[in-house]
Amino acid sequence: MNLNSITFDNSYARLPKKFYANVNPTPVKNPNIIKLNTQLADNLGIKLNNIDPEKFFSGNSLLEGSQPIAMAYAGHQFGHWVPQLGDGRAVLLGEIIDTNGCRRDIQLKGCGPTPFSRMGDGRAWLGPILREYVLSEAMENMGVPTTRALSAISTGESVYREKEFPGAILTRVAFSHVRVGTFQYFSARQDLEGLKILADYVINRHYQNCVNDKNPYLSLLKEVIKRQALLVSKWMGIGFIHGVLNTDNTSIYGETIDYGPCAFMDEYSSNKVFSSIDQTGRYAYKNQPEIIRWNLACFASCLLPLIDKDEKKAISLAQNAVDEFSSLYNSYWLKIFRNKLGLMKENENDEKLIHNLLNLMEINKTDFTLTFRALSNLVNNNDVQFKNYFLNQNKINDWIDKWRNRISLEGKDNKSISKLINSINPSYIPRNHRIEEVIVEALEGDYSYFEMLNKVLNKPYDDQNEYKNFQSPPDANQIVTQTFCGT
Ligand code: AMP
Ligand code: MG
Repeated sequence: MNLNSITFDNSYARLPKKFYANVNPTPVKNPNIIKLNTQLADNLGIKLNNIDPEKFFSGNSLLEGSQPIAMAYAGHQFGHWVPQLGDGRAVLLGEIIDTNGCRRDIQLKGCGPTPFSRMGDGRAWLGPILREYVLSEAMENMGVPTTRALSAISTGESVYREKEFPGAILTRVAFSHVRVGTFQYFSARQDLEGLKILADYVINRHYQNCVNDKNPYLSLLKEVIKRQALLVSKWMGIGFIHGVLNTDNTSIYGETIDYGPCAFMDEYSSNKVFSSIDQTGRYAYKNQPEIIRWNLACFASCLLPLIDKDEKKAISLAQNAVDEFSSLYNSYWLKIFRNKLGLMKENENDEKLIHNLLNLMEINKTDFTLTFRALSNLVNNNDVQFKNYFLNQNKINDWIDKWRNRISLEGKDNKSISKLINSINPSYIPRNHRIEEVIVEALEGDYSYFEMLNKVLNKPYDDQNEYKNFQSPPDANQIVTQTFCGT
């Protein structure tokens, strides 16, 4: 066995000690592979045949060159300031350079306590690990920036939550794990030196295009605002609700990170909330853009001393940048929803057309995914399925007429319109009841449901006629009303 088959380079561990704690994963009793993501391993240049994944992805052994650390960060949780959070159940094994030349973090999640664990056990149980595996890989396949899942391992140990569960560990891959909360950690300590080192690190790692700008830190802020505006617009386009949009779960690179109580909507409801701990609906579907803007304002306030020594000037520059968020987001959102309706050109009435459909969908409680997907049938004058989703036929007929008129302005043939519709409106999403089914069966030792769901979601935009039953919303007795953090 070649122990050097993963070549680590640990740039974060070369930062000053105050950025992290050195900590090794705690070995587990009896690690077993649940799933290895061979496609991702190839992309990362990891030769799985040359390593013993059970040993390394459980944290029972370390690969040569790995310098495990838990990262320090702080954050606003549900709007409340928490001065110290940090990786309490995750350890960054190191970074590798993937086959595209990009630096990627390799992190174990659920691998035992760290100095940031507070009262937690540093572990995870099987359910949340399978959820994160399925959801994060589905997001990747839907074209949404996201952390990835390289492996899921069962530990052979028990984890105690509301009852006893089997333990598991996920290998998470990210372009980086730096969060808004990482900046807040140094800002709150008024550690200007730490802040500058972090900002320079992030610019060097992710935003090289800012290096030579007149004000690189202002450029950094603008770049992150852009990435986050794009990310949240993509979530809105597929009916994804993150569930815990705390500042520590907002990535500086702009990836979806921290798959806790997140969920996809079945029937469209703009106020939809799944998370059991989100009592006030702070992170409801429709609030997500505004919450991301709020998190970005927190980020901006951390950067103030770097943006300009003159505080007033810094505030004005940062404020202007944050104020750009809404128009950026709106333009991304509009483009996505235009495409969802099969439209490429811009027309001043498009926004109204989109909102009219969303209103009808909300009143009729139609399935978000199926309704948009069925638009491609309308293109081919096969109206029945789409119309059946709506109770008031007059209103939907009226909308269809308007939409057909608008489509005719595109000047395109039906085939290319329906191709566009099918390329942006997924046929398959990780529906909550399917994930529940995966977890229930896995607890019984049957991973075939997990395998099948991953397989279907590998091609979310394809019809895959043999898996039609995975398209369906839940029956009344299958509806999942709440999701849990799983910590
Ligand atoms: P999250 O809700 O996953 O964003 O986690 C919030 C904070 O709680 C982070 O600092 C986590 O590392 C920490 N945390 C969550 N679950 C555990 C656990 N089981 N043990 C220790 N720390 C945890
Ligand atoms: Mg988190």
